[in-house]
Amino acid sequence: MTRTASILAVGSELLGTTRLDTNSLFLTGELEAIGIRVVRKACVVDGWDDLLAELAFALSRAPLLCVTGGLGPTEDDRTKEAVAALLGRRLVRDEEILDRLRERFRKRGREMPEVNAKQADVVEGAVVLPNRRGTAPGYIVEADGKTIVLLPGVPWEMKAIFAESVLPFLTRGGAPPGLHRRVLKVVGLGESAVEELVRPVYEAHRECDVTILAAAPGEVQLHFAARGSLAEARRALDVLEADFRSAVGPALFGRDDETLEGVVGALLRNAGLTLAVAESCTGGMVSARITDVAGSSAYFLGGAVAYANETKTEVLGISAEILETHGAVSEEVARGMAAEVRRRLGAAAGLGVTGIAGPGGGTPDKPVGTVHLALDAADGTRRHERLVLPGDRAMVRRWTTSAALGMIRAWLTERGGTE
Ligand code: ATP
Ligand code: MG
Repeated sequence: MTRTASILAVGSELLGTTRLDTNSLFLTGELEAIGIRVVRKACVVDGWDDLLAELAFALSRAPLLCVTGGLGPTEDDRTKEAVAALLGRRLVRDEEILDRLRERFRKRGREMPEVNAKQADVVEGAVVLPNRRGTAPGYIVEADGKTIVLLPGVPWEMKAIFAESVLPFLTRGGAPPGLHRRVLKVVGLGESAVEELVRPVYEAHRECDVTILAAAPGEVQLHFAARGSLAEARRALDVLEADFRSAVGPALFGRDDETLEGVVGALLRNAGLTLAVAESCTGGMVSARITDVAGSSAYFLGGAVAYANETKTEVLGISAEILETHGAVSEEVARGMAAEVRRRLGAAAGLGVTGIAGPGGGTPDKPVGTVHLALDAADGTRRHERLVLPGDRAMVRRWTTSAALGMIRAWLTERGGTE
């Protein structure tokens, strides 16, 4: 028997133009993995009538309903009230939750605002799911053969509660077979180049749905999935992954949640090496990606955003003559930036990034998208790469950060580094 579910995302902001419902994507993946197919999902405004109507309909379409959002303390957070009304149950105040809420506020040196007491109201008969990352607990409510799971809207709270409490509940009789997905990530190769390399692999594994997509500028991803129990699926995915890895080669840098900056960080940390960065056209974006990784202070020393020519001269000592002769976007300047930032900060490696992000500033021999990357390492390695990247300003800049991180990674892996 296929089990099915509906997902409902509550929150007026999700119907505006700035917020996407990403919670349902996470929930869909988790439910698929345990053999539960999502048959409908919806976003609904905070309004009472809409909420009530949508809850009733979603619940009528599947035995399991997962709702996120609207568990907060404010007037417009009414998910619990609506579920209680729908089931004809009362809301009862839970003293234990109330104590925990008060304690949470006290730890931060604040008194709990009275409106927050509302977060201790529980739909009669519901199981309370603790939230270690926030104030609103989740709930499981069972009624007439249906199960309703209520989770907070904040993604990282929702995910933690799902993993800690909902998944064990849904798989209490053992995890049923489901669809298990895997993602492999590639840097430095285009979509069609990857396609060509991996075609023989996926043609030999037609049972696995393989999708190749340009996930972000400079990064290509391979998505594939296998059906079965977790152990069976993992075996099939491992075989496919090994084949993909040997087909793609060193450009394949990670899988699933791994990021390029995380992988580069692990390589630097394990090699005991430090990095300094001098960036022009990316305005600090390379450094921002590197420092997105917790613990990056172990290997990232810092650097300079040397945007104006004068800054390249004053901060990095790139001579006005080199800038004049070769232009700010040139191999010479990129190499100079890498060498100087490394020397001045005493790092094991220096990275220099200069380019024309556009839309203005291009010339026939240096069109918009021209980027020079250079790496200068204390072990004597000197590298340079000239790229002509496609797309608008945002795309060129983002792509440059991936290419720059890819350059550091290539150097580290060729030295025999491990993550
Ligand atoms: P609380 O954790 O206080 O109970 P809540 O359940 O009321 O919060 P909201 O106030 O609806 O949740 O949302 C909190 C944050 O989570 C907002 O930044 C919102 O944009 C985000 N969020 C809510 N729903 C979703 C969703 N379906 N997908 C992605 N982000 C969401
Ligand atoms: Mg809300």
